[in-house]
Amino acid sequence: MAPGADPPRGDVSGAPTPPGPARPDPARAASPARAPGPDAAPRPPADIAISVRGLTKSYGGVPALRGVDFDVRRGEVLALLGPNGAGKTTCVEILEGYRQRDGGQVAVLGVDPARRDRGLRSKVGIVLQECAVDPYLTVTEAMTQRAGLYDAPRPVDEVIGLVGLDAKARSRVKHLSGGQQRRLDLGLALVGDPELIFLDEPTTGFDPSARREAWDVVRGLCAEGRTVVLTTHYMDEAQALADTVTVIAAGRVVASGPPDTLGGRDHGRTRIRFALPDGVGLGDLPLPDGLAPEVRAGFVQFSIAEPTVVLHSLTEWALGRGEALESLAVDRPSLEDVYLELTGGPGTGPGSEPASGPDSALDSGPGTAFGPDSAPGAGPGSGPASGPHRGPTGGRS
Ligand code: ATP
Repeated sequence: MAPGADPPRGDVSGAPTPPGPARPDPARAASPARAPGPDAAPRPPADIAISVRGLTKSYGGVPALRGVDFDVRRGEVLALLGPNGAGKTTCVEILEGYRQRDGGQVAVLGVDPARRDRGLRSKVGIVLQECAVDPYLTVTEAMTQRAGLYDAPRPVDEVIGLVGLDAKARSRVKHLSGGQQRRLDLGLALVGDPELIFLDEPTTGFDPSARREAWDVVRGLCAEGRTVVLTTHYMDEAQALADTVTVIAAGRVVASGPPDTLGGRDHGRTRIRFALPDGVGLGDLPLPDGLAPEVRAGFVQFSIAEPTVVLHSLTEWALGRGEALESLAVDRPSLEDVYLELTGGPGTGPGSEPASGPDSALDSGPGTAFGPDSAPGAGPGSGPASGPHRGPTGGRS
């Protein structure tokens, strides 16, 4: 490997690197060999597991990360969200020590991952979208083999139970279902007893109950004080698991915060929808001026900053007529709505600027996430040894 080049992914935890090419990094290949170039970083506070400041990375002159800042507190789940090509994988691979940055400061468990410190590797578990495990090993054998790479692994049986594979402990890996293999991936990442776990789309291909079980495993990890960085395209997963959601678009953080308040979501306009009663026109409804309600397929819908009074008027009006407001639905913007608002539209790919900068998104106040025109539903493992790869949803390859 040329000095300064990105290491194979398996180098992260000191485990053997499986076969398979590492992704080329044209930017680095084109550059003369040089030291990692991390800026000297002040040591972050002890409760911060990951600190990222001004992180930049370009490929062949095209910026993928344009100055990314965020922190991950110890014991929290941070979900990294963003459209395809936003820079999430690049960012995570830099944190994992797999890819070199161009600039900025990064500390992972107090260590610069560019140093590829062996002590750091043993504290980090990585679950990629797919992992390379000898398919002829049994689950117990695969787990035991991996445990042997660590000085102080967790008991193999305990980890197999943790990921719900007790019944498959003696099955060969090649006989596991896709969901069971993902559980094994997670187990392989946990057997080293890591403090920090990177999960890349951990539930892709899971059935609904397997997803819920995987979420419980992640919650259990956090209850044990471990830190999780989750990359996902599933908004419900981010909503269910994340303490903090950080949204990256076009190489910049455009919003960061708890899922319930991201992008001013908690102050977003309330959406009201109900079936227009037979024989009633829009003008018959007791609605305040300036609401601009729409009728679509027999349903009235509008959004409003303060719904209490209008709901009272509507229900009183309906009861006075001796009928119900059929299919009445009252809801706030979902995480997906806010995400689409933050990242939507053209211009979120690499080489273009996001629609809004970090400040505008973070500071968005009441009503800014949704305008009155917003329609309901709009905008709508391996462990350390794995090599880089991308799965069907656009993960690493
Ligand atoms: P996805 O959700 O599709 O996985 P992402 O947010 O993880 O996307 P990255 O994989 O980090 O995005 O890619 C960010 C940009 O950098 C993209 O334009 C991508 O094409 C480019 N890129 C990533 N890796 C390389 C590489 N090794 N060589 C050249 N360009 C790259």
